[in-house]
Amino acid sequence: MSKTVLITGASRGIGAETARRFAREGYAVGVNYCSSQARAEELVRELEAMGVSAKAYGADVSDRAQVDRMVGDFLSDFGHMDVLVCNAGIARQELFTDVTEAQWRQMLGINLDGVFHCCQAALPDMIRRKSGRVITLSSMWGQVGASCEVAYSAAKAGVIGLTKALAKEVGPSGITVNCVAPGVIETEMNGLLDQETKDALAEETPLERMGTPADVAEAIWFLASQGGSFFTGQVLAPNGGFII
Ligand code: NAP
Repeated sequence: MSKTVLITGASRGIGAETARRFAREGYAVGVNYCSSQARAEELVRELEAMGVSAKAYGADVSDRAQVDRMVGDFLSDFGHMDVLVCNAGIARQELFTDVTEAQWRQMLGINLDGVFHCCQAALPDMIRRKSGRVITLSSMWGQVGASCEVAYSAAKAGVIGLTKALAKEVGPSGITVNCVAPGVIETEMNGLLDQETKDALAEETPLERMGTPADVAEAIWFLASQGGSFFTGQVLAPNGGFII
């Protein structure tokens, strides 16, 4: 029986690259998307061509009922869930004094409540089997805070707190919970940055480049792999030394 992984926000960027990384290891992959259905379905075809089972699941992670339906469908399609990667997220830059109540709720709803919803939906199956890996996505801004990204930083700091606490709670059930906190990664999330800003960010990074989705996928894979089996409650930070 194949090992299985459900990856939220896998229609593009870090999530899509993570899906490819797990497919290379023979995992059956659940590709969650919110609005990019065509891209998720294209990725599913790509993964199937690699010889693994894959299926796209549309669900807004901020919506409890949609997440419950997605996890239920995944479990009936694949039988069990070995790994959950809570990667779906949004970012926005604005002055703190301009953040509206609705923008704050949306940021926390997707980036933090989304992790809560997915973990709560997926854990009963893992606890029953006394086995599982959960990997959450924070950000270096969740570790140190970013100017003009207060809501994002708050949500991502929350993800770190959730990860550490949950790791202690479900460790005795044979489940590890770890967090990956990337630095600046070349994806559509940073698509609005001009070349000058990207160059400045690369210059500020000791390793003198922005990260790639593959850099992050490798860290996620490590935490799911046999080599990562004694890690739990940890924050692994592929950031080129930007934050140490
Ligand atoms: P991205 O390229 O913008 O992709 C975001 C993904 O999240 C897309 O697949 C999108 O799906 C999905 N998504 C957004 N809202 C969703 C929702 N409500 N429900 C379900 N899926 C949703 O972002 P990325 O750079 O790959 O980032 C992935 C994760 O890494 C995020 O959690 C992000 O905060 C974190 N991160 C990124 C960076 C960076 O520099 N890029 C740095 C640190 C941390 P649809 O297109 O289908 O809507």
